[in-house]
Amino acid sequence: PPRLKLNKITKRYGNTVANNSISLEVMPGEILAILGENGAGKSTLMKVIFGSVVPDEGEIFFDGKPVQIRSPADARELGIAMVFQHFVLFETLTAKENILLGMPKGTDPDALEKEIIERSAHYGIEVDPNAVVNDLSMGERQRVEILRALLTNPKLLILDEPTSVLSPLALQAFFKTLRQLSSEGVSIIFITHKLNEIRELSDHCTVIRAGEVAANVNPKEHTEEQ
Ligand code: ADP
Ligand code: ADP
Repeated sequence: PPRLKLNKITKRYGNTVANNSISLEVMPGEILAILGENGAGKSTLMKVIFGSVVPDEGEIFFDGKPVQIRSPADARELGIAMVFQHFVLFETLTAKENILLGMPKGTDPDALEKEIIERSAHYGIEVDPNAVVNDLSMGERQRVEILRALLTNPKLLILDEPTSVLSPLALQAFFKTLRQLSSEGVSIIFITHKLNEIRELSDHCTVIRAGEVAANVNPKEHTEEQ
């Protein structure tokens, strides 16, 4: 079954229909790109999947089972992790301290540091656990966020415009990490504005326009047109 299936999701803010009967699927290990103009409803859709927005209508299935995602805690319990566009790190704390805050109570800081180092090496995500967030570039902060998400062993990773803060070099490393996660069976949904990223990285692209699915594209079948 699909890792995630959305069936006719509708979310309104007052008179604004941010998501209008959106359906989509992502398979285990699949990388799905969501493309759309500002205001199209992409963030709302990601928030629906992460439980920070509860839809007015529609159904969600996870690994084939109907689920209710009414809070980020519900999403995390299912194995859904999200990396926000605007990072949610405490500036005066270290990477490790920030990551520790998201871990279950009683997590041992030394064991966590060891795990951070192991995971960083495994996924090629360079993070200094003892660097203070204030001293980190946006790309480095994002790596802390991604690592924090990965330490929860997600089955589905959602990234809201992840590449907007990355240098070209960091971008290649980031793509490599995502491809590795995908090969390990982690499903990925990422929001982007950039067609080259869709071609290079995604297995599937869903275009959202005015709150609706405007197109579903297989980027690999469209490469020769570019
Ligand atoms: P995107 O991520 O594609 O830019 P959003 O999901 O943020 O789109 O927004 C979709 C529409 O919903 C826009 O018209 C936006 O102004 C509106 N919207 C988003 N969040 C809220 C909110 N909390 N309250 C009211 N309107 C919102
Ligand atoms: P994004 O591109 O991620 O949607 P924005 O800067 O557009 O980010 O929105 C930031 C926050 O404001 C989001 O949580 C979004 O839901 C909310 N928001 C967006 N549009 C509106 C709106 N018209 N009224 C109230 N809140 C909004």
